[in-house]
Amino acid sequence: LVRLRRRLSGSNNALSRGLLTLLSRDKIDEDTWEEFEDTLLTSDLGVKPTMELVEALRARLRVEGISDPSKARGALREELIKLVDPSLNRTLGTTRSQTPAVVMVVGVNGTGKTTTVGKLARVLVAEDKDVMLGAVDTFRAAAADQLETWGSRVGVPTIRGAEGADPASVAFEAVKAGIEAEADVVLVDTAGRLHTKTGLMDELGKVKRVIERQAPVTEVLLVLDATTGQNGMTQARIFAEVVDITGVVLTKLDGSAKGGIVIQVQRELGVPVKLVGLGEGVDDLAPFDAEQFVDALLS
Ligand code: GDP
Repeated sequence: LVRLRRRLSGSNNALSRGLLTLLSRDKIDEDTWEEFEDTLLTSDLGVKPTMELVEALRARLRVEGISDPSKARGALREELIKLVDPSLNRTLGTTRSQTPAVVMVVGVNGTGKTTTVGKLARVLVAEDKDVMLGAVDTFRAAAADQLETWGSRVGVPTIRGAEGADPASVAFEAVKAGIEAEADVVLVDTAGRLHTKTGLMDELGKVKRVIERQAPVTEVLLVLDATTGQNGMTQARIFAEVVDITGVVLTKLDGSAKGGIVIQVQRELGVPVKLVGLGEGVDDLAPFDAEQFVDALLS
């Protein structure tokens, strides 16, 4: 939380700066609203959420008779929390009565997929769960090596296939091994080459179908690099078309992310941000919490 605050607060972050423009003025007039709107638009919040926030807040301050910016903080906080939506179910699908729960992790290479799988395994191990990893990117041997390294760091086994093997067959083997070992959770790290949309669609769709011959996929997490802004949004749309995403992991929120992407991605995909990555280390993964996020922005 402290780290989130340090990263997202004040001058570090575009969304935070945008929000604080409103609170730092002498009075709230037309110019203030215009400036507020402009700064929000540069923060990856997207046009529609920006307009909604401005409208809701204007109406509210009018009704409540607030013109003093220093008194607008509470209203801003509440309207923003509504936008981030604390009512979304952010519980991870890592529990299942009949084990194992299967979590597929998808996303473009370089977004932090493998790192996220490693960190998530760590979180689950700390919850006393037996975890198994599946390295389904058979195209790059380095990808499986990297996952295996994470596996040994966290103390969980990694199932991998030969280079060039069919990704779906490796996924099948990983889940089979998970069932045999009575693991609680199998985390499946998939390939993220955006070569062609159909290629990706075929591959991810097949991986999911083949896994589901043995056990339901309880969660499909899309990993997005929060620093990539609108590019990230484009990726998100493509993945959402090819596989049913159940949650988003926003990585690199410790980097140069502008922050607004949280709201935009939830809106567009209709699924919650469930986890955030706050660094490269093994403990740098945190559950996403709407109120904490907003408080970090406003601090
Ligand atoms: P993949 O290709 O999607 O599997 O991506 P990797 O897991 O290999 O990560 C790509 C790079 O991003 C690596 O250098 C990671 O250390 C880094 N990375 C991943 N998550 C985070 C994060 O939350 N914050 C920061 N700063 N770096 C991250």
